[in-house]
Amino acid sequence: MEDMASDRRDQAVRAAVAQGLLSAAEPVVALLDTAGIRASAAALTAAFAAVTDTRVLHAFAVKAAPLVPVLRLLDACGLGAEVASPGELALARAAGVPPDRTVLDSPAKTHEELRRALALGIAVNADNLQELARIDALVAGAPTASPLGLRVNPQLGAGAIGALSTATGTSKFGVALRDPGAREAVVRLFLDRPWLRRLHTHSGSQGVPPTLMAEGVKAAYVLAEEIDTKAGRRQIDTIDIGGGLPVNFASDEETPTYAAYAELLASTVPGLFDGRYALVTEFGRSLLAKHGTILTRVEYTKTSGSRPIAVTHAGVQVATRTVYAPESWPLRVLAYDAGGRPSTGEETVQDVAGPACFAGDLLVTARTLPLLRPGDVVAVPDTGAYYFAHHYAYNSLPRPSVHGFTVTGEGTAGAEVVFTTVRPAQTLDEIVAESGGGWPDALLT
Ligand SMILES: *Cc1c(COP(=O)(O)O)cnc(C)c1O
Repeated sequence: MEDMASDRRDQAVRAAVAQGLLSAAEPVVALLDTAGIRASAAALTAAFAAVTDTRVLHAFAVKAAPLVPVLRLLDACGLGAEVASPGELALARAAGVPPDRTVLDSPAKTHEELRRALALGIAVNADNLQELARIDALVAGAPTASPLGLRVNPQLGAGAIGALSTATGTSKFGVALRDPGAREAVVRLFLDRPWLRRLHTHSGSQGVPPTLMAEGVKAAYVLAEEIDTKAGRRQIDTIDIGGGLPVNFASDEETPTYAAYAELLASTVPGLFDGRYALVTEFGRSLLAKHGTILTRVEYTKTSGSRPIAVTHAGVQVATRTVYAPESWPLRVLAYDAGGRPSTGEETVQDVAGPACFAGDLLVTARTLPLLRPGDVVAVPDTGAYYFAHHYAYNSLPRPSVHGFTVTGEGTAGAEVVFTTVRPAQTLDEIVAESGGGWPDALLT
């Protein structure tokens, strides 16, 4: 599967140059491999179906790739959407994701956001007790079809990336279960609210090992059992196990797999899959990362302190995390010639820089790659989640266009790459408009 994906990518790079998608006029574009996304969605669904007959909603974490056509594709694959802001909810609705496949999580839902969610009937996981009090009032005021739950933090500790570790002792997310008196209070508030029927946990993202994620799921399961025992009935009907499966950024290999994670869960928390609980998952990065590629042209090359540097048009605006935290977020860079064929240049230690005006705007530092020349094409794979879809407006650089691609006649001599527009590039007029262009005199009066 990985070989086919890298073949498809090579074909897409070549076709993007041949068909003029990537050009001197548009020197950075982003590609999404439609077949790859479908394959990941199918792998996720199959992985859970292999270990359980219980009902599972796989709600894609919209923040990982907030693009309407992506949400619609995943909806067509039977997935739902996990949203965490009014904007993300608007995207899910624009994509046609039905309310019964939409889940709202966020630590800062306003009263109006909650009211609207309950009116729509989308699932809501409360983050804290103050939010729960707002929901109490809304539930008392009007009937709702929304399944309602509470997010808990099992306080298991951090993974390799502090900023993405959600289950630490002092995490901002959910109700901290191990704080003095907290567990008893959580059980009590469920017993007092027969309509509160879900438990939610999300123990982290990239950098958190699957074993730690599974421990977090187990903690939610054990709490569900305790609540049900004390309630003397089945109060918890659904456990939302969050997302967070890490992605391998070092090669094309897709690991860990959903199948391995589902099996790990089945051995760590066997009761989770015995049919008593419906499940919700919220994977983001692991569904999209491998299927996105940034393409850019090398504008100039130079040497500095005898280090060769290729200056491209892809930097901090599309790879923000990597540029600001390269140790935590290393990316691969693949070199192609000006025609989009894999480069045969001499392997050379070099930097690949972005266009932004600060010294740290580097995609890779001292990386061994075929020596890049002006006009060459650089591809940055594994950027389908949290990269080009998360534009950072530094230097007023435009949001690049995003194109889906499919390869017809894959593996044959007549293979052809077909591109479709997912999002056009931002225009200069749009940049001016969103930069106060409509109010030039605002500060003169
Ligand atoms: C970010 C987030 C996810 C998705 O995390 P990934 O690492 O992209 O899989 C799922 N659930 C919640 C609550 C999140 O905040």
